[in-house]
Amino acid sequence: MAESAEQVHARVMAAADEGGRMPLPSVAEWDVFPWEVVDGAMAAKPLAAPAPEKPRMGEDGVDCTICTPEPAGLIWTNDRWRLKHLAERSGLPLVVMLEPWEHLDFDDLDDAMAAEYGRLAVRIARIVEGLPNIGRCHVMRVGDGAEHLHVWFMARTAGLPSVLGSFAVDWDDILPAGPEEPWREDLVALATALASYDGRVVGLDD
Ligand SMILES: [Zn+2]
Repeated sequence: MAESAEQVHARVMAAADEGGRMPLPSVAEWDVFPWEVVDGAMAAKPLAAPAPEKPRMGEDGVDCTICTPEPAGLIWTNDRWRLKHLAERSGLPLVVMLEPWEHLDFDDLDDAMAAEYGRLAVRIARIVEGLPNIGRCHVMRVGDGAEHLHVWFMARTAGLPSVLGSFAVDWDDILPAGPEEPWREDLVALATALASYDGRVVGLDD
C-alpha cells in the first residue's frame, strides 16, 4: 500500500530545508521550462522564435531505443502491448508506461489497436485509482521526445493539496522517491489485476 498523505508529508519535511523546500529539480534548467526569475520576481520567459521541428527519437523506427525485445521494468504484457515501470522510483507513488511492442505512434494505431488501447488505459487507470491512498491516476500521451508510443500513467497521493492537476508532473520531479516495498507491492497489485483481464504478469519475481 502506498504511503498516506501524512506519511509522505512527514518524509518530505524530514528531507527538506528549514523552509520546508526541496531542491529545484533539473527540469528548472531546461530550455522549455516556461518560468524564470527577473529582477527578483517570477516571470514567464519570452516566447522563443519559430524554428523547424527537431526530429524525435526513433523516427521511422530508426535507432528507436523503445524497440527492444527485452525492455527494462516490464510488469505486464500481452502479444501487442506491455506495461513497465521506469528505471528509478520518482516522487509520485506509482508511475508506469504503456507501450505497443510494435513501433507505432499514437496516430498509427488501427481501429483494433485503438480499441484495445482504450480498454487497457481505462482498466489501468481504474485499477490504480482503486489502490489505497491513491487520489487519481493521470493518463498522458505527450510524445514530443520519442515517436514510439508511450503513454504515462501517473498516480498521485490522495489528500496532498499541492500535488494536483498537471502540476503533479512537476511534483514527480520535486519530491524524493518513497520506500521501495509499497511501490513494489502496488506494481504487483496492478499487474496482477490487469492480468486477470488479459495478458500476464512478468518481471516482478525479484
Ligand atoms: Zn520503436
